[in-house]
Amino acid sequence: MIRRWLHIIKDKDRDIRERLFVLLSSIALIALLLVIIIGFVLGESPTDLLILSLFFVFCTGIVVWSIFLDMIQIGSCIVAAVATIILLPFTYFTGGGIRGGCPMWFFFMAFLICMVIEGYAKWIFLVMDIASAGICYFLEYKNIVIVYGHTEREFYMDSYASLVLICAVVGIMVGFEIHTWREDFKRSKEQAKEIEELSKAQNHFFSSMSHEIRTPINTIIGLNEMILRENVSAEVAEDAANIQSASKLLLHLINDILDMSKFQSGQMQLSPAAYHTGNMLSDIVGMMWGRARDKNLELHIDVSQELPSELYGDEVRIKQILINILNNAIKYTTEGSITFTIQCDKPKDGIVNVIYSVTDTGMGIKKEDIPYLFTAFKRVDEDKNRHIEGTGLGLSIVKSLVDLMGGKINVNSVYTKGSTFVIEIPQQVVNAKEIGRIDLKKGHNVKQKARYHQSFEAPDAEILVVDDNASNLMVVSKLLRDTRVKIDTALSGKEALEKTVEKTYNVILMDHMMPEMDGIECLHKIRNQMGGLNKKTKVVALTANAGSEAQAMYVKEGFDGYLLKPISADDLENGLQKLLPKDMVTIFGDESELIEDGLSWLSDKRGKSMIAVTTESVADLPVKMAEKYNIGVLPHCVLTEDGVFMDGLEIESGGLLAYIAKSDAKVGTSAPDAQVHESFFAERLQNANNVIHIAVSGRIENSGYQAAKEAAEAFDNVTVIDSRHLSSGQGLLVIEACKMAAEGCSVSEIVKRVKDMREYVRTSFIADNLEHLARAGQVSDRIAKVLKAFMLHPVLEMKKGRLTLGGICFGTRERAWDKYIASCLNVAGEIDKSILFITYVGISNRDLEKIKEKALKKVPFEKVYFQKASPAVAVNAGPGTFGLLYKMKM
Ligand code: ADP
Repeated sequence: MIRRWLHIIKDKDRDIRERLFVLLSSIALIALLLVIIIGFVLGESPTDLLILSLFFVFCTGIVVWSIFLDMIQIGSCIVAAVATIILLPFTYFTGGGIRGGCPMWFFFMAFLICMVIEGYAKWIFLVMDIASAGICYFLEYKNIVIVYGHTEREFYMDSYASLVLICAVVGIMVGFEIHTWREDFKRSKEQAKEIEELSKAQNHFFSSMSHEIRTPINTIIGLNEMILRENVSAEVAEDAANIQSASKLLLHLINDILDMSKFQSGQMQLSPAAYHTGNMLSDIVGMMWGRARDKNLELHIDVSQELPSELYGDEVRIKQILINILNNAIKYTTEGSITFTIQCDKPKDGIVNVIYSVTDTGMGIKKEDIPYLFTAFKRVDEDKNRHIEGTGLGLSIVKSLVDLMGGKINVNSVYTKGSTFVIEIPQQVVNAKEIGRIDLKKGHNVKQKARYHQSFEAPDAEILVVDDNASNLMVVSKLLRDTRVKIDTALSGKEALEKTVEKTYNVILMDHMMPEMDGIECLHKIRNQMGGLNKKTKVVALTANAGSEAQAMYVKEGFDGYLLKPISADDLENGLQKLLPKDMVTIFGDESELIEDGLSWLSDKRGKSMIAVTTESVADLPVKMAEKYNIGVLPHCVLTEDGVFMDGLEIESGGLLAYIAKSDAKVGTSAPDAQVHESFFAERLQNANNVIHIAVSGRIENSGYQAAKEAAEAFDNVTVIDSRHLSSGQGLLVIEACKMAAEGCSVSEIVKRVKDMREYVRTSFIADNLEHLARAGQVSDRIAKVLKAFMLHPVLEMKKGRLTLGGICFGTRERAWDKYIASCLNVAGEIDKSILFITYVGISNRDLEKIKEKALKKVPFEKVYFQKASPAVAVNAGPGTFGLLYKMKM
């Protein structure tokens, strides 16, 4: 029993409350036992002592029971209940009442309850304790219950004994708490250290694994390359090609796993440095071009001429991100094209946001799969992708890298049609000179070669290759065989030092990780050698240490270059050729081998814009304006008894009104549904990074706002704004958004401005009558008839997004129009004079000119557009309707 009791108190994994209960209840029981013994010695009433003894036995039973059955929470509740309801009131009345030690025990009980009981029960028992004390006080005060009065001596003794006991128990309790807290603190520190060590060990494991695996792959790829160079049979060549692609896949996998482990252990770091944007892009294109061509895909590249020529960032990691996305685009596209666009916004405080977007015409991604794209090891749509190699790690690493760089990545995809990945990365500008048109010839080594072509020969060159692994030495020697350079090899740093004392080399290729003396130490020794034959020799690190941090380290240590194992034959030859003295090298082939066909760096026509502004046909914008700003207009549907027509495209308002007048047919209009909106947005996103869609007021019947909102959920970069207007009032907002987009404002700036501007746009119409609205079910038939009979012309106005009756003008058409114009433009000073739209339905040109004249007399607008309302608006308004739409000064 005692062992179990000790075990519970010492058990660090147990809740502190349980441990405290066991400890304190034991102390309290000992205290109670002492009270009984003292009472017995002092000759207190045998009945009281008997009752106290019964309590003692009962409580001991409960504590023992709860310890044994591990029901400590229940045990503590029972003890608290018995103590507050029975034990304390009993001791109160028998122990001197307010002039005894019991009030202190009530206080102690409250303290104990707070420390050991959890949840609601704690509050219930706390209230019970306070209530129980209150009742005792009250009964004593009212003399309802006779309190056994203590003598003066007993009172002092009792209250002092209680004080001592409570102090002791509270002291033990606090001491215990502090002790436990210290233990926990120590334990958590130890655990943190353990975790850190574990993660270090894990990271070390992964990096050494990666190193160990790279070395044999180096041999496989290198020797396989030799087979590919030989004149072997087609079958052997095919097998060798398969070995090559499998080894590369394995290598890719190792790199991904290494990156993942770095992210997980929080050790992924960026190594920023200045880089030339043109060079970086041409490297990427060089890698991608061949892959796209192998799959018969067109690769379009569009680089903004405004891109700064030199930026500061981690070039290696940016390349990794873009190659991953472009690789996926090629992998998941069977026909069509891949478009790679690079844009940037205006630099602010020396930082520019570079926006890379990759659009493919491939299989697309299901809407429901998009949230899982960036989850590690998760591949989506596996049924379709079963035959495509992949691990599901690429995008997860891409996302983590983009986050680390403080950037953003968005995906838009329409299943079966294609996907667009947009990556935004902020970079410091080193040289703000614009990149301009890139001349690919000046670009990098984008060589078109299916088979190996020797790129140079240098029979007089002397090189030394240092590696502790003999197969690596063999691979490098074989790969360089055709270049006829003279190769010496060394199996250790020590051997390298011996050789460098005797001979001057043009280039030394040095492995990093070698036993006894590693490559860095060896390099330093070569530089400081007595006699120093190789003090100025170019030394290249040949290593399996991947990552940009490694590259930075080698530069810092004084290496002249860095080649990653497994060494590609191209990299080895290119690297060596650059480092060897020019007069020793004979170059084969010529620069014109650089590829140009199939690759377009700049094409203004295909240029992808940052922001596309779209709206619906009911926005009643002049066609020329829509063309000028390239506004995407989504047609509403006009439903007639003869079929459904696309507003403005398949049906024109004059024809529609004539059709209604002639056949008295019922005609309705409706906004396109969410699916139509979705395709519309997807199409616009082919040519823009973001879409801002300004929809007709959501409070108007047949508004496309809800459908647009729903469709926008499928995309990361489609923003839908409720215009709270319709017709050219909505159009005014669209024009403002377009102007801002053309000025290079951001999405959030445009959205804010448009939302603010809604309050300042005035949309109203005066109609001949309400017959058409009644026919469309927008107002009641009766009201329409009454208005017509009394020659009342209704003025309809957009207020807070609703079409309301703004007023009524009496009399002939002309008088009513005059009144409408006067009331509309009566606050001339506050009106923005830049644009006035006179949007109309079935009004003659002569009448329109008159309206314009009258309006201009009131306010000299700079531009006045006559805009025929779209059929969908016309059918609701009816002929003889026009509106003056403008905005107030903001
Ligand atoms: P994987 O190695 O499988 O390609 P990624 O993390 O790169 O892993 O991509 C995760 C999943 O996202 C892929 O399995 C694929 O289903 C989907 N995916 C990525 N890019 C595209 C794309 N351009 N088109 C269609 N699906 C894509």
